[in-house]
Amino acid sequence: MSLKLANLSLPKLTLNPKPPSKTALDKLDHVILVTPDTIKTSVWKTVTYGTLLKQMYEKADKKNAKLALSSHLSNRNLTGLSLGVVQKNRSTFKNLTQMGELCKNAVDAKAEHIGLLLVGFSPDTHKELSEILISASLAASFQLWKKKSKKPTKKKFKSIELFSAPEAINVAQLKAEASANNMARWLSALPPNYLNSKNYVALVEKLAKQKKWNYKFHNILALEKLGAEAFLAVAQANPHEDAGIVHLQYCPPGTTASDAPDLALVGKGICFDTGGTNLKPANYMLGMQGDMGGSAVALSNFYALSQLKVNKRIDCWLAITENHIDAHAYKPNDVVTAINGTSIEVIHSDAEGRMALADTLSLVSKTKPKLIMDFATLTGAAVYSVTDRYSCVFTNRPQLHNDLIQHGVNTGERVWPFPQDDDYDSSLESKVADTLQCSTENGGDHIMAARFLNKFVDDKSAWIHMDLSAAERKGGLAHIPTDHTGFGVRYTTRLILEGSIFEKLAK
Ligand SMILES: [Zn+2]
Repeated sequence: MSLKLANLSLPKLTLNPKPPSKTALDKLDHVILVTPDTIKTSVWKTVTYGTLLKQMYEKADKKNAKLALSSHLSNRNLTGLSLGVVQKNRSTFKNLTQMGELCKNAVDAKAEHIGLLLVGFSPDTHKELSEILISASLAASFQLWKKKSKKPTKKKFKSIELFSAPEAINVAQLKAEASANNMARWLSALPPNYLNSKNYVALVEKLAKQKKWNYKFHNILALEKLGAEAFLAVAQANPHEDAGIVHLQYCPPGTTASDAPDLALVGKGICFDTGGTNLKPANYMLGMQGDMGGSAVALSNFYALSQLKVNKRIDCWLAITENHIDAHAYKPNDVVTAINGTSIEVIHSDAEGRMALADTLSLVSKTKPKLIMDFATLTGAAVYSVTDRYSCVFTNRPQLHNDLIQHGVNTGERVWPFPQDDDYDSSLESKVADTLQCSTENGGDHIMAARFLNKFVDDKSAWIHMDLSAAERKGGLAHIPTDHTGFGVRYTTRLILEGSIFEKLAK
């Protein structure tokens, strides 16, 4: 099966500083109107179709956080109309969720040309909600991979126009973020016979050429020379020798590839996870093509940040393999040694993600990044502890805990930090090797996995590990309507663009 990268082009987005004229509204298929829960009645006199909109607003249940009403304009086109009422001081997550619901209305009505209008807000709130509504509308109609004989009846938005648009909106950032999130979702949802190791690596190489990123692929032979036995243990049951570790580099002007990176993005890319020798039961194996979700998030963040020409030296590392069952497959009690010399006693072949990451993080550490961020759909324990609404974070700089939580609140991609004190290591003591791969005691596997990974990270680099419990959620999350959420793209892109994390780490 060959694979072509999805068309990541977004609908045409227009920011019109003027309020909409009647002609402009009449041409649209759907208008999304957003108002505060209290509004001066005089405002309606200044808006086209003000009388109709005012009537609709008055009928709306102002306490209901959800979509209030949907109707249509009294024109020949019967332009659809969705109204959302926003309460004061509501969280970004809730605002994203509501804007997503409003956009879903337009998608369900098969609208192609939509208008966005916010009325009655203070300038700051107007800007904030405009950006949220744009993000929701860019995410709403993107379609994931399908191979159906019948063409989908769902339509994509062709154009989005924001009326009365505030000046300071950073369109480039919103677009880069949206394309990156779309890419992460698209990759994660691909069937595993399409996105196998070979096709995934080829796809990234092609993208690197297109975007002029430095590209290096550590193939099986190269990894054997490096002594990457932990990664190779996972890859050794693959049907083909096409697994490996991809290394991408982005160098802004004034930097070179040999400079230590400001940021290394790292991702677990298990294209399909059977569980290996400790085979997964059928219902747990279903959907395991999404086990490369961490690498999709790392790559998509790299894509967005380089697209925005951020002034940081950034590397991206993708640990790409499959986890198969085969006579050669690695098994419990095998002992392997990672690149950094740490020997590992295997406990469970389904804990392959931490094995692939162990060698990847060892390689990353050699390049001495200021900050390492890794992304992985790593443990079931992460989902048990925070459900699929949040993702778990771990860091070797615990003074960042509050900032990491707050950044999740600000962006609407919510995370919760967990401890990783070194006394947890006593649960990883092996009789024959430096460490166990997993604890044989019950509980806290997300913490034990973080403790394990910690052994391959040089403490001179700050390190944030995101266990992506929110990578997949039935019905989507916040403004993202699909089961694959691309969680981690909005969070990380914004974290790096804001840049205050680097100042905090420098202190
Ligand atoms: Zn697994």
